[in-house]
Amino acid sequence: MAYTINDECISCGACSSGCPSEAITEGDSKYVIDAGKCVDCGACADICPVSAPQAG
Ligand code: SF4
Ligand code: SF4
Repeated sequence: MAYTINDECISCGACSSGCPSEAITEGDSKYVIDAGKCVDCGACADICPVSAPQAG
């Protein structure tokens, strides 16, 4: 299962640049993860200051 970003996201963008598979892009109200690209590495969860990315 891919990671998902919950509503705690403050759109800081840190996870996007830290994702090895370029799976994270800016959405309307928060950043979003493309499940087809996510390789479940967990880097986004480690980088995020508010723990918004959650393992699926
Ligand atoms: Fe990218 Fe890894 Fe987060 Fe998936 S778990 S979105 S591959 S940083
Ligand atoms: Fe949102 Fe966290 Fe990613 Fe920043 S690092 S854009 S707060 S999910």
